[in-house]
Amino acid sequence: MFNPNSSGIVYDIKRFAIHDGPGIRTTVFFKGCPLNCWWCQNPESRSPEPEPKGQLRTAYQGDLLYRDDGLIGKEVTVEQLLKEVEKDVLFFDESGGGVTVSGGEPLLQIDFLHDLLQGFKAMEIHTTVDTTGYAGYDRIQRILPLVDLWLYDLKLMDDSLHRKYTGVSNRVIIKNFLQMYEEKAPLLIRVPLIPDITDTDENLVAIAHFLSSVDKNLPVELLQYNQFAESKYERLGLPVPGGHKQPQSTDEIEQKKDIFRQYQLKVR
Ligand code: SF4
Repeated sequence: MFNPNSSGIVYDIKRFAIHDGPGIRTTVFFKGCPLNCWWCQNPESRSPEPEPKGQLRTAYQGDLLYRDDGLIGKEVTVEQLLKEVEKDVLFFDESGGGVTVSGGEPLLQIDFLHDLLQGFKAMEIHTTVDTTGYAGYDRIQRILPLVDLWLYDLKLMDDSLHRKYTGVSNRVIIKNFLQMYEEKAPLLIRVPLIPDITDTDENLVAIAHFLSSVDKNLPVELLQYNQFAESKYERLGLPVPGGHKQPQSTDEIEQKKDIFRQYQLKVR
């Protein structure tokens, strides 16, 4: 039995999401992230606490559901979130969708995440957790039985580059990934294609080589660079980290997919 009064800090809910797992999904964004990626798409997610809008300058102008009293981010209970998500159950049933918990890094708020996932399971809702993999394995293990799909990010295989561009080593991420694979966790690997940082042939070959050495049946998704984050920085009055970048063309994406296909991996 889960605790409906368990609470955590959430900064947004996105309805009708179609890129966060199978079917139509409702994505809940937890606040707080242990990484500090140069290209962070969600700068408002990084601090674990609600932040004054003024601190983020002109503030994010999107439709943040959990923006309250001039703060970005709000403490909510499991019960409140279950009620929000319940409104979308019909769409989940018709599309094979469900709920995705994203961030930031959801594993940072493990007690809240655990109770929330238990609540979703009690409602028979498909659950996906979008993670950096950067956490103690005990946290992952605690929720393994409650997660139907993991969206697992692999960014850079070279540890010194990983440290440079995300602020942390990738060793824990890779170790956790291997342990999860051993425990038969359902994994979808996602590679964000950041121009000249993660989308280099060298890095993609290294990721493909690593994955194929584990299991050629592991599904991989390449995420085209999204300029939306750049306009978010501009609205926040912050410099775009690393400057403006162009998304990869369709041809370039195909070339990058070919790298994975050459390793007999299933890529999309
Ligand atoms: S892991 Fe995601 S939320 Fe965290 S800093 Fe990187 S891009 Fe931002």
